[in-house]
Amino acid sequence: MSKAGRRAEPEAAAGTDRFAQLVAFCPDAYLEVDGAGVVTEWNPRAEEVLGWPRHEVVGRGIGETVFPAELGSSPFVRTGSRAVDASGPDEAQSGGGVRREIELRHRAGHRIIAEGLLFATGPGADGGVGGFIYDMGEVAPPGELLSHSDLHDGLTGLPNRLLFGSRLADAVATAGGIPGAVAVVLLDLDRFKAINNSLGHETGDQVLTAVAERLRRAAGDGELLARFGGDEFLALFQSQDGLSGEKASDFIERARKGLSEPFELGGSEVFLDVSVGVALNTFGVDDPATLLSNAEAAMYQAKLRGGSSIEMFGESMRIEVIDRMTTEHSLHRALERSELMLHYQPVVEIEGVTTVGMEALVRWQHPDRGLVPPYRFIPVAEESGLIIPIGAWVLEEACHQLRDWHHQGQTGPRGSVEVNLSARQIDDPQIVRTVEEILTRTGLPPEHLTLEITESALMKDAASALLVLRALKNIGVLLAIDDFGTGYSSLSYLQRFPLDILKVDRMFVEDLGVSAEGEEIVSAVINLAHALGLKVVAEGVETTEQLDVLRSLHCDFAQGYLFSRPLPAAELIAAFGLQISA
Ligand code: C2E
Ligand code: MG
Ligand code: MG
Repeated sequence: MSKAGRRAEPEAAAGTDRFAQLVAFCPDAYLEVDGAGVVTEWNPRAEEVLGWPRHEVVGRGIGETVFPAELGSSPFVRTGSRAVDASGPDEAQSGGGVRREIELRHRAGHRIIAEGLLFATGPGADGGVGGFIYDMGEVAPPGELLSHSDLHDGLTGLPNRLLFGSRLADAVATAGGIPGAVAVVLLDLDRFKAINNSLGHETGDQVLTAVAERLRRAAGDGELLARFGGDEFLALFQSQDGLSGEKASDFIERARKGLSEPFELGGSEVFLDVSVGVALNTFGVDDPATLLSNAEAAMYQAKLRGGSSIEMFGESMRIEVIDRMTTEHSLHRALERSELMLHYQPVVEIEGVTTVGMEALVRWQHPDRGLVPPYRFIPVAEESGLIIPIGAWVLEEACHQLRDWHHQGQTGPRGSVEVNLSARQIDDPQIVRTVEEILTRTGLPPEHLTLEITESALMKDAASALLVLRALKNIGVLLAIDDFGTGYSSLSYLQRFPLDILKVDRMFVEDLGVSAEGEEIVSAVINLAHALGLKVVAEGVETTEQLDVLRSLHCDFAQGYLFSRPLPAAELIAAFGLQISA
């Protein structure tokens, strides 16, 4: 089409049959205006899609028909020395044409959002403009007018999610089931939240605008780039040869290169990385919603890798997504059907080798899958929000169990029960009240309950975690930092959190007796904890060698297979006849 555009010199347009023929049979709408904005060409397809017969438009100013003033300045008007309008790139001057989205008015009154290829039809400021109008992605019916702002993002001016969705639906429809004919690319900026928080929202907006501009350049004319929302951008590629994946990867390469240059903001330089997810249509996988969610799943996977990477949605990911979906689905009913249960693992005082507590660890007795370990479903529960009711159930069940053991006197543990709380539970505004109510209902004195929160959950939003921890501490429960050493603790926060116990992650305990370095790390952690007034639990103790080293390092408590695997309450008591010191 751009070839046809290059041939469209005004003289030729008037004179050659060949040009007239081309325009008459062109499957796209074609219109042309002279330097004064008066319509000189209007082909049959333009009559069809825009509703205006040729004789009604030719000879009239284009503003009187398809570009009424309310639509803003007409893209068919030359401004200054630029060939097309001010937003058109300079190639238009050389006759190469510029692709852009344009909005027109149908004769019936409704708006049409279309894509156009506009080009100068003659040299100089008073030459005309020709344009092919095609890809009528969005034809708003009368009464249901979609304005430009309904379909575009206010900040970056890019098409928004709605317009993208409609274009994607068209792309899928024209793909005719050819695998690889459609590619969806989802780009998500890494650590954008940090920029927003540290430099302010205004700067954040500037970054987004600048990113949009660089991505637009990387995409080039004719490719659809949209803002998905927040710091996420989408690009759509089509190829009837099934090569949209190649187009997508070329774009990603250009985009990452473009974004790798620092952004100059208020005198400082900001560096950005992106995580990219790509999804292609394949046999049977070609509805717009699935393609979008596949791109999201791939992007999410790229984030999990630590960001700054690209993931292509693949079969294994599909299985994972389906697995997550079914897990979430059946987890909903697991609570109602009482499929969740608790196992308990003793926490032993190293000095006197007495059990001082029990950690409650949740298990899912799945009707088909058997006993499902927490790592298989806790992340899904966290993501879906189900961790809130599940966590409350765990708390109540554990407190209840300990109360029962108390009532049974010397035969059961009288110490404390340790319950894990996830990050999502800490964020829950009801958490303090939930804990209070459970303690009241079960009649368990608060000092017998220890709540464990992983280091990474605490440090994710340390400032708000601090407030929650203080409120929990006020109830009288004990607090432990779990899996210590796997996250990145801010020492100043560690000091400010009202903690009682630090649990050294199994990873470090594993190294005891193996390497001197391992011992030094654990020793440093124990000393740090003691300096902060915390008791230390070593997790995952499996050998007597490890226990001996821990004893020599003055570690307070240990937990691990050496003493017992996590077991159901009844089995634990039967096997050990535990005597617990309060
Ligand atoms: P965690 O709180 O650090 O629990 C300790 C994990 O280490 C448990 O795994 C336990 O079975 C395992 N373990 C204990 N001793 C040994 C040992 O000597 N060797 C080895 N190799 N492993 C040992 P589990 O039960 O699979 O739980 C994994 C994680 O799932 C827990 O880590 C905790 O973060 C989470 N979790 C478990 N129950 C709950 C719950 O009710 N709520 C929440 N939010 N998370 C839970
Ligand atoms: Mg724990
Ligand atoms: Mg742990």
